[in-house]
Amino acid sequence: MFEKLLIANRGEIALRIHRACHEMGIKTVAVHSTADADAMHVRLADESVCIGPPSATHSYLNIANIISAAEVSGADAIHPGYGFLSENAKFAEIVEAHDIAFVGPTPEHIRIMGDKVEAKRTAGAVGLPLVPGSEGAITDLEEAETVAFEIGYPVLVKAASGGGGRGMKVVERPEDLSKSLKAAGQEAKAAFGDDTVYIEKYLGNPRHIEFQVFGDGKGNAIHLGERDCSLQRRHQKVLEEAPSPALNADQRADMGETCRQAIADLGYRGAGTIEFLYEDGRFYFIEMNTRLQVEHPVTEAITGIDLVREQIRVAAGLPLSVTQSEVKFSGHAIECRINAEDPRTFAPSPGLVTQYHAPGGLHVRADSALYDGYTIPPHYDSLISKLIVYGANRNDCLMRLRRALEEYVIEGPKTTIPLHRALIEQPDFINGDYSIKWLEEWLAAQD
Ligand code: ADP
Repeated sequence: MFEKLLIANRGEIALRIHRACHEMGIKTVAVHSTADADAMHVRLADESVCIGPPSATHSYLNIANIISAAEVSGADAIHPGYGFLSENAKFAEIVEAHDIAFVGPTPEHIRIMGDKVEAKRTAGAVGLPLVPGSEGAITDLEEAETVAFEIGYPVLVKAASGGGGRGMKVVERPEDLSKSLKAAGQEAKAAFGDDTVYIEKYLGNPRHIEFQVFGDGKGNAIHLGERDCSLQRRHQKVLEEAPSPALNADQRADMGETCRQAIADLGYRGAGTIEFLYEDGRFYFIEMNTRLQVEHPVTEAITGIDLVREQIRVAAGLPLSVTQSEVKFSGHAIECRINAEDPRTFAPSPGLVTQYHAPGGLHVRADSALYDGYTIPPHYDSLISKLIVYGANRNDCLMRLRRALEEYVIEGPKTTIPLHRALIEQPDFINGDYSIKWLEEWLAAQD
């Protein structure tokens, strides 16, 4: 097992990884920007190294400085968390070239899944159901028109390198196709340095359901069930739950097995998430994320399995600690993503936290790097806490979540806690009756 692991991230996820390491007897090295010198992840780690100025480009995305920090501290593994360098194949390659273990998949798998056109081709080849659309990248208007005509409008133009919901354009009518192709290409070029686009059928009212998978890199794989992440704003997840209120045990077992087999066939190593849209009883693959997800704790809650520990075990060449038949699902879990944002306008609200009190009690988990007197820097993502609540069933979980949200005190910055309090009182949500469109429609109706 590793002796010392460098955590190439910040915030709650850096704490999450640190905790798994300490439980496994592994020492941790934190890296931080100058803006994060007082951050909780720096305070908790055994050692810390400053890797640059506040801007992420010069610190948390600075590969040379992170590798130097690992060398100087003698770390034998690097965990990238999520975001930042977690899905950067070049980074994974450089880490391994320095004889440091990368806690994640092989650079090759990261590369394939990072290109959505390639990812769809690969997913199709290992038997995952796809959204109807172009076979590969779209290179000219005529081809686009043919594909769109075949699958039928509305269609979605998507960026091959897309992420975070950017570089997507819905096209309702043939006469708008040319304009949208150009716009999506330009947006993708500006955001990702790659203007490759492809076309998919635009599904009208789907749910977003994703499966958590794990491979040991030697052809053994398991699935840990699904998460329903349909509550989204601007294609970004706001609240996630497991299991999905839309699936029954047979559907879960069937799709889970399809995903498990796909991961085994790929010889995939580490944690992964296979994302699907789900409409009228059918699944459609959209992408695979080759990292730990923000919402992984809901899966931990219903399976009792520590996903970060499994990631580290696999990276160290150990087998997964459970086989598929040993994975047992029980109860229900919901995660609320709490952002330092105005709950109505969603304008970022960084700054001094004058009072912090996290909820507690049975089956309540608040993953956050906040503390009294901490100043949330303006340079990074606005996620400041994840509240994860477990219950014996969905109703029990909702009652406990309501209580936990009541208890949560974050004074100073505005947060999205009031949004979550309101959201979980909505009859549609209580009934589990919502698609990826629901939240935006509900928000629009509040204005
Ligand atoms: P990103 O990598 O930018 O997150 P995804 O492909 O994962 O992009 O899609 C993000 C979200 O966009 C999905 O959860 C869904 O809400 C919406 N979306 C993506 N593809 C489609 C589609 N074909 N039809 C309808 N909505 C879609």
